[in-house]
Amino acid sequence: MIQANDPSLTSWIEVPAGSDFPIQNLPFGVFRTPINPSPRLCTAIGNFVVDLPVLNYMSVFDELDFPPDLFVQPSINGLMKQGKQQVRKLRNRLAELLSEENEEVRKNAWHFLHPMEKVELLMPVEVGDYTDFYSSIEHATNVGMMFRDPANALLPNWRHLPVGYHGRSSSIVVSGTPFHRPSGQTRPKDDEPPVFGPSRQLDFELETAFIIGRNTELGQPVSTAEAEDYIFGMVLFNDWSARDLQQWEYVPLGPFLGKNFASSISPWVVTLDALEPFRVNGPEQEPAPLSYLQFQGARNYDIQLEVAIRAESGAEKTVCQSNFSYMYWNMCQQLVHHTVNGCNVRVGDLCASGTISGPTPGSYGSMLEIAWKGTRPVDMPDGSKRSFLQDGDTVIVKGWAEKDGLRIGFGEATGQVLPAL
Ligand code: MN
Repeated sequence: MIQANDPSLTSWIEVPAGSDFPIQNLPFGVFRTPINPSPRLCTAIGNFVVDLPVLNYMSVFDELDFPPDLFVQPSINGLMKQGKQQVRKLRNRLAELLSEENEEVRKNAWHFLHPMEKVELLMPVEVGDYTDFYSSIEHATNVGMMFRDPANALLPNWRHLPVGYHGRSSSIVVSGTPFHRPSGQTRPKDDEPPVFGPSRQLDFELETAFIIGRNTELGQPVSTAEAEDYIFGMVLFNDWSARDLQQWEYVPLGPFLGKNFASSISPWVVTLDALEPFRVNGPEQEPAPLSYLQFQGARNYDIQLEVAIRAESGAEKTVCQSNFSYMYWNMCQQLVHHTVNGCNVRVGDLCASGTISGPTPGSYGSMLEIAWKGTRPVDMPDGSKRSFLQDGDTVIVKGWAEKDGLRIGFGEATGQVLPAL
């Protein structure tokens, strides 16, 4: 039996050097084409999208006993509901069909392979509830230093629980979707009345997110040992933020309109299985967390993250290089904390990491930190400066894990800022 994760596997489909999508990745997404506009499920290999309904029609998945319409859906939620074991079998079968020596479907490749640039990648998940955490100690420390006491940057709860808030799923959009600069209330000067207008401090937040692949029952806490059974996979996530709206509105209940106007995700859901070779230990947690948050084994992942800004002039600059492994609280702890009070999660729910900053200025995951509240503007190659985002800017988030010649990537989460309406 072929295992999709086998690092020695190669495919009869060309996978260019540096591709995010070798045969070991096989992420899941949703796409359509001009000729067939029905949204349907796909995977990626090299520069191609693999049309899963067409493969299914060739009867190559018959042994898996899937419902007949599983792949002709506008989201992968139905596939996730089949359970991890079934999805594992599907990835292994796909790896078998696409592997170098296999001839089963190769002569019909033109039926099910689409060049990636010829298809439209759609929202892969129907997101139910969306939660955003705040789990990077470097990010929380930077924000605390800027807005509170530099000597006591972290709030007293921060090292004891993964802080989070409930966001809004309706405005989560797939990579490539532009949005208008939000307008709202701000108070530009302390002790003066608020004003209404377009945000002047529009920012990105470099994040990843995990997708829930299995329901829990109301009242059922998940343990750290079980947590991975409920996490289907990961996407890149840009939690666009209007800092000036946020600063005025957030007291005392937290983020609201400064956050919920748009969030962008990458179109490919990379399974936790594909990320298995990249497990690493996270930072040491001091003090030790309460027992329900303690865990065994390596629960972080070594995923390189990068953010670039492309101005309307075309001038582009990489403004951040970070790593998912910096996260203080890992995904298992986040899910465990989320359910410890009995709150249930459902297939398709999305939990974002919070801004992922590293220890050095080049690894800060937001303009707020990179330009340090506007005091250190970034020089763009076209001579312009950035403290926050300008109209016309496109933010490009990339992520990939790489080790021993194997690269498992996420593609991109991009979005362009249009002028305020
Ligand atoms: Mn965030």
